[in-house]
Amino acid sequence: MPVAPLKCPQCGGTIELQSIGEAAKCAYCGTQHSVPEGSARQLTPEEIQARLTEARLHVENMMDVMMPNRRKITFAITAFIFIVAALVIGGILVAITTAFRH
Ligand SMILES: [Zn+2]
Repeated sequence: MPVAPLKCPQCGGTIELQSIGEAAKCAYCGTQHSVPEGSARQLTPEEIQARLTEARLHVENMMDVMMPNRRKITFAITAFIFIVAALVIGGILVAITTAFRH
């Protein structure tokens, strides 16, 4: 279970823990901390959801920065598929109508 971040007493950096009771090393200053039970609490499902949403938005922003025309390309592909589908369905309808005339 993910747990809420703790502050490093040495440098004030955020320490992300994988589980409660685990010895944690600060990613900023390298200080080894033993985290006593109860000093870290487990994240609520809402907090986990909020973090996932935040992460997803972050990825989407990165995608927009890397590919500014992504939405336009997606729209163009969708429009193209609709036009092709309309032509195919129209062609089938014309073929059926023609076949029944004879
Ligand atoms: Zn630190």
